Amino acid sequence: MNLSDGERTRTVIDHMGYTWTDNEEDADLLGIIACSVRQKSIDKVYSRINQWNRMKNKRNLVTFISGCILPADRERFLKLFDLVFPMSELNQLSEMLSHYGVVTPAALKTMASAMQLNESIRDFWHITPHYNSAFEAFVPIQNGCDKFCTFCAVPYTRGREISRPSGEILEEVRDLIGKNYKSITLLGQNVNSYGLDKKGSEMLFPDLLKEIGELGLASGKEFRVYFTSPHPRDMSDEVIETVARYTHLGKQIHIPLQSGDDKVLIRMNRKHSLDKFRQIMRKIRETMPEATVFTDIIVGFTGETEEQFQNTVRAMEEFRFNMAYIAQYSPRPGAASSRWEDDVPHEVKKDRFRRLTGQLQKYSLELNRQMIGKTYRVLVTGKDRKEGYLSGLTEGKIVLRFQSTNESLIGQFTDVTIKSATAFSVEGECVDGQRSAVSGRQ
Ligand code: SF4
Repeated sequence: MNLSDGERTRTVIDHMGYTWTDNEEDADLLGIIACSVRQKSIDKVYSRINQWNRMKNKRNLVTFISGCILPADRERFLKLFDLVFPMSELNQLSEMLSHYGVVTPAALKTMASAMQLNESIRDFWHITPHYNSAFEAFVPIQNGCDKFCTFCAVPYTRGREISRPSGEILEEVRDLIGKNYKSITLLGQNVNSYGLDKKGSEMLFPDLLKEIGELGLASGKEFRVYFTSPHPRDMSDEVIETVARYTHLGKQIHIPLQSGDDKVLIRMNRKHSLDKFRQIMRKIRETMPEATVFTDIIVGFTGETEEQFQNTVRAMEEFRFNMAYIAQYSPRPGAASSRWEDDVPHEVKKDRFRRLTGQLQKYSLELNRQMIGKTYRVLVTGKDRKEGYLSGLTEGKIVLRFQSTNESLIGQFTDVTIKSATAFSVEGECVDGQRSAVSGRQ
């Protein structure tokens, strides 16, 4: 979501006539799109703004912060940053700067064009993002969350759930297809509750997916569409069946489990049981046996006993995720659980994290080994850390590397036969070896 916010921020700043620099020392305007999910990210903001404020002793500089900010941090940021605003007010950045006495480069040219600009970028979602990649794009379909999980601050930082009009989403997706984008990710805190806030006047998530699936079929182009993150409570059979039905909908589902214990799930206010999650997994496995499944898990949540943690270990064994993003619980100021005692000792959390990661590695290695000898269609995403190799993603988003120095493959699909596997990646050989080898010499 922050990446996507950043792409729209870039457009607004471009329109104000600024040019970009990689060197903070040269900048007249410096900003941060904050993330409040972890305290560590917010700590970094404090250290960065102190650095920037020291620069202000030597020159004129305007600083801003937006994104996910908790009320308590907002109060403190107001004293440290020149501008603090929610992302929904991004379109007013130019006006905010002018109130601050700053004339933007574009405004210097003609006031008229600046006024025109403000007209055209009134709504955040109407801002055409400056995509960071020429082949991968993120499309926000919804903002905010109504679920109020007790460990999470998002409903307080981003507000209640609002669905973006489907017409705009489809237009943005159509535009990306026209520009030959290869990977498009629909974004939202609860993508699969899309449309529920406008029930009756807006389509629901499965229909949105169907429309996008149809756009794919009509285009005759090769690309993949993903979505993140869905919530188990709103994960209907229809969503899974739609993903299965349409070629362009990527067969990878990221569905957060958070805990394998029903009592912990209740304390987390997740609004689903382990059994509901089990039904979803069964449906995914029956409908799309080839699909990969990723999840998020928190260990050491307030009050989590060893027995409850063991239920998560058992769930891990039962569901065999291809990937799990495991986090050690830390209270977020503003979230309901921050008022409860953080009573699982740090060492215990670390130990549970280590044990669960071990489980994950065991099962993901088993799954990755099953890929050996098979050929996969891979979107090449860049140069690998390993010298002379490129890396990419299978449709199931398994990280893959293969030997090639042909950088023209980046942003393209190619076929790779898997030769070896580790827990978190696989290695293979490009089927079109000749193309790779010949180009590699260029
Ligand atoms: S569903 Fe829960 S974890 Fe996800 S954004 Fe909403 S409150 Fe946070």
